[in-house]
Amino acid sequence: MQPKRIAILGSTGSIGRQTLDVVRQHPDRFQVEVITAGSNAALLAEQARAFDVPHAVICNTTKYDQVRDILAGTRTEVHAGIDAACDLVTGENVDIVVASMVGFSGLRPTLAAIRAGKDIALANKETLVAAGSIVMAEAQRCGVKILPVDSEHSAIFQCLQAAGGNPVARIHLTASGGPFRTWPREQIEKAGKDQALRHPNWNMGAKITIDSATMMNKGFEVIEAKWLFDVEPERIHVVVHPESVIHSMVEFADGAVLAQLGCPDMREPIQLALSYPERLSLNNRKLDFSTLGALTFFEPDLEKFPCLKLAFEAIGRGGNLPCALNAANEAAVAAYLEDKIGFYDIAAVAADTIACTEFVAEPSLDDIFATNEEAFARARKQIW
Ligand code: MG
Repeated sequence: MQPKRIAILGSTGSIGRQTLDVVRQHPDRFQVEVITAGSNAALLAEQARAFDVPHAVICNTTKYDQVRDILAGTRTEVHAGIDAACDLVTGENVDIVVASMVGFSGLRPTLAAIRAGKDIALANKETLVAAGSIVMAEAQRCGVKILPVDSEHSAIFQCLQAAGGNPVARIHLTASGGPFRTWPREQIEKAGKDQALRHPNWNMGAKITIDSATMMNKGFEVIEAKWLFDVEPERIHVVVHPESVIHSMVEFADGAVLAQLGCPDMREPIQLALSYPERLSLNNRKLDFSTLGALTFFEPDLEKFPCLKLAFEAIGRGGNLPCALNAANEAAVAAYLEDKIGFYDIAAVAADTIACTEFVAEPSLDDIFATNEEAFARARKQIW
């Protein structure tokens, strides 16, 4: 069997690194053709060398010389800038693109890959939050598969394999609840980034870990599920499940509920997205039911986690509002990570941005880019 040829958008991030770990476990099955990174020149070069990657793109053009110098004498061609990334993912030598850039920046290269007919292993949920209707329509038009990497959506995707064409009654989207699940609001209010970055179960990048602490991540995942599985938000139920053993569930008309379980390890959904429908062996921890103990479930607290409430409101109104919410959140989370604002200011900035956004019911791609830019600028102005 020919190895599957992979492009990784965002190879130095958490998902990118774990994707390479899956590749490392199955070198006969996967071949990395393109890797791209924002500005981590040293790690990008190290990855290119370790996996003998033909093309490496550093999006921050000022780091180009650094990458080129480290890779001198290797077969890796070094490129710079986001346009090079958009171009290389469309190449003949690529079968599947792992979309694991952080935030809105993933939209352009992901769309370019879809339009070139490449299957997408989608980790970058912001792409669907900001432009779900456009991305899904393009995927359908170009006949490409969007394979979810997000653990919850991978779980739903797997449960749906047993649906036999029956409609979904409800999706139960599980949430760990993040590091502040049991904290009182007054204490959360004063929490700094060091506390917010301490996720109890999942090993993830900084941006998504903050989104998990605010539960904005879960709101985004509701939007992501709506687009991936064509299920109305009213049918998507968020349930807090602190053990993160059940990765999500699907309920049918007769009340039967299918769940997908596993240890919290992103390499599992990454592997399935890369090799689907085949399952490959993985050197990870397996569930041990003899020591697992109780699995618990709670309703989310929307007063303590207003970002989740904001996300539900944005989905309910639809149009360009989820895009504006995402942009405001990106600006606010960046500021929070720089200790510029407090934890609950993230929700406040997002709420204000949404309220000021001019509503577009059926946004074009140009509208989406304009909304993103305006909302990001507005949020930043409010912060600085
Ligand atoms: Mg998730």
